[in-house]
Amino acid sequence: MNTIVASHPAALNAAPLVERIETVLVDLPTIRPHKLSVATMNGQTLMLVRIVCSDGIVGIGEGTTIGGLAYGGESPESMKLALDTYFAPAMIGQDATRVQLLMARLGKHVKENRFAKSAIETALLDAHGKRLGLPVSELLGGRRRDRLPVAWTLASGDTGRDIAEAEQMLDLRRHNVFKLKIGAKSQKEDIAHVAAIKRALGDRAAVRVDVNMAWSETQAVYGMAALADAGCELVEQPVSSAAALARLMRRFPVPLMADESLTGPESAFELAKVHGADVFAVKIEQSGGLYNAQRVAAIADAAGIELYGGTMLEAAVSTIASAQVFSTFANLQWGTELFGPLLITEEILATPLDYSDFGLTVPTGPGLGITLDEDRVAFFTRHAARKSIHVAL
Ligand SMILES: [Mg+2]
Repeated sequence: MNTIVASHPAALNAAPLVERIETVLVDLPTIRPHKLSVATMNGQTLMLVRIVCSDGIVGIGEGTTIGGLAYGGESPESMKLALDTYFAPAMIGQDATRVQLLMARLGKHVKENRFAKSAIETALLDAHGKRLGLPVSELLGGRRRDRLPVAWTLASGDTGRDIAEAEQMLDLRRHNVFKLKIGAKSQKEDIAHVAAIKRALGDRAAVRVDVNMAWSETQAVYGMAALADAGCELVEQPVSSAAALARLMRRFPVPLMADESLTGPESAFELAKVHGADVFAVKIEQSGGLYNAQRVAAIADAAGIELYGGTMLEAAVSTIASAQVFSTFANLQWGTELFGPLLITEEILATPLDYSDFGLTVPTGPGLGITLDEDRVAFFTRHAARKSIHVAL
């Protein structure tokens, strides 16, 4: 009898286990107020999660929302609570290398919480990529592109300031696709704002809008026609109802993109069934993780719906998790908006991301391919006495 096997039954079959899960809230300032129809953001709060595995590998993940609870049912604070209280007990001691199996197990304990699931799946994939020496894109079936086009959102709330900002981005060759956040002001003011920016930029840049569901269907009928005249090339989620989105389809020469309506594969299937959008804005957090984002993309491809890589204004960790997924998509006709880290004043990575020539480079190192600057993360970590003061509704 082999005494080594007998006395260490797990030794020959020792899969690395999830040993510990740590969460922190990190409050970071933004370069300017970011005005959406749902909230004005003066800062961004990240929920960062570290999964420490028994083989010493540590994976990182991020959960971020837009304007606290202004966008959906989860906030960075609620994600931290969910992970500490419910996710961690279901995961500790489990095989850290079986990422999909572990996510399925988690799904039995946690029904909703798509954003928190995205953060934890990111950390598991980061850890496993580091373990195998492979980028996350390779764990997701293989990368098709190393660079992703990145649009910029003009959302200062002031037309002149937005034009100056766009000119600066063009000069820097950082962005030549601009998304305008509208819906907070009167429709007349909004349309004039879009038309003025498109007039100033001309053929040098593409202009798109995101209404964040602020319009009624009748407003959207007028708005879509006026936006088409103004030279807008894409309208994102003008109304909240998926049925209304479907009715607006094909009435105008401007493509319609679904964003808030997309909450994972099931909603993608429902939208596709009713021809509810020309384009899907895929987000890892909205989808409930990286694998689910791929499932959304597969449904879009099968339905002839085009794809765009969306953001929840995430910082570097979730932005790169998104980039790793989007790099695997067969189609990415409308590029991405992975500019979240550029909206934040503070660098939290040891090596900054490469934003250049109107795009972002997808890192090639193991896992996510990024390293946190731990001192800076610690500096901005929220302590118990401090309250978030960043969101002014
Ligand atoms: Mg949107």
